[in-house]
Amino acid sequence: VTSEIIAVGSELLTPQRVDTNSLFLTRKLNECGIEVVRKSIIGDDREKLTNAICNARKSSDLVITTGGLGPTLDDITRDAVAKAVDCELVYHDQITQGIRERFLRRGHKMAEVNRRQAYIVKGADILENPKGTAPGQWFKDALGILILLPGPPRELEPMVEHECVPRLKKIGSPHKYHTVIMRSAGVPESELDERIGPIYSTASSVATTILAAPGDIQIHLRACGDTIEQAQVLAEALAEKIENELGDAIYNRGSEEIEEVVGTHLQRLGLTLAVAESCTGGLLAQRLTAIQGSSKYFLGGWVSYTESSKTNFLGVPESTIVKYGSVSKEAAKAMALQAKNKSGASFSVSITGFAGPARDTDTAPVGTVYIGVADPSGCVEVSHHCFSGDRSFVRMLAVQTALRLLFSTIRNQ
Ligand code: ATP
Ligand code: MG
Repeated sequence: VTSEIIAVGSELLTPQRVDTNSLFLTRKLNECGIEVVRKSIIGDDREKLTNAICNARKSSDLVITTGGLGPTLDDITRDAVAKAVDCELVYHDQITQGIRERFLRRGHKMAEVNRRQAYIVKGADILENPKGTAPGQWFKDALGILILLPGPPRELEPMVEHECVPRLKKIGSPHKYHTVIMRSAGVPESELDERIGPIYSTASSVATTILAAPGDIQIHLRACGDTIEQAQVLAEALAEKIENELGDAIYNRGSEEIEEVVGTHLQRLGLTLAVAESCTGGLLAQRLTAIQGSSKYFLGGWVSYTESSKTNFLGVPESTIVKYGSVSKEAAKAMALQAKNKSGASFSVSITGFAGPARDTDTAPVGTVYIGVADPSGCVEVSHHCFSGDRSFVRMLAVQTALRLLFSTIRNQ
């Protein structure tokens, strides 16, 4: 069963308002086994809305409109629907009486324009609206189902929950869905897709989506089965094949961020961590300490931003800085070792680089970053990176990469 949502309202075409009703509706429809294949926004224009409804009904079994059921002249949904399904509107006096009483209970007199809300498409069922005046409508003919819902979320949501969900469950497919989320870092999106494309494209009952953010990629596997268990088996089987292909590049199954996964591993191993940061100015420590309970494994660190602070605070040998510069493999190594030795942590991470935009030496281009990771045996791996982007982007990528390298080191313990 497929569905389409049409949000009605000229205000939704302005930069001030966003259509959130369709997000709520999509969640509820999916829970009922109904997929949303298209959604659109139409201004308060009768003809455009009539056309949109006619077109939607050609391709989807279920069409839902939200908004435009109010009492004023710009509320055009009732008229547009009547035209689209070629049925007249029928006046229901008991709806007017209900609205009148609602106003009276609040000490107001009903304005006569509210009578407009008592017009129902011939043959449609009335959906109660305990939170407002405009009833919803449920219309069915040979082409499919058309549901009219009010615009205000506080009216729409209970109406969907109480009036629509029980009916939608009956028409939704009995299929059940299970989603596996995998997170990957360190492999560019295009390379990742080239490697796993041949794997996921053979699994026809699993919809694969790749969501790429800088330095971090999520792979969503949404499997469809007759039962939850069957969907689970399908999704897990594909996840395993993808994991086998990507190996270390997958750092998690689930939606946790990499710093959370690092923390979980450290805690499980009973090991600790310290950091020494230069160009990232504490961003790595910030990411690590944003995780609750991080004091169990994160000891602390140094923001050694200038050359003198690298020697004075952290104890990097002055000769190292003089000979190789503070953005160098040797400086990164010394920073990691000093952080580990001074703190007594099991692991340490160092970051030193040029975040730009100005560069005060001409030894290396902006975006050059060295990252050092020391393991419990005192062995330090330093890697060299060239990130492109503005200052904050380079800093963010440096932290993301440092977390990924730390994660691989921890996992290899
Ligand atoms: P009313 O009786 O209040 O006029 P209505 O059914 O005519 O109800 P609209 O006039 O279209 O609904 O919208 C009323 C309010 O509901 C809007 O100001 C807006 O705040 C909210 N709204 C409408 N559509 C949406 C939407 N798709 N997503 C989120 N909010 C919406
Ligand atoms: Mg309105």
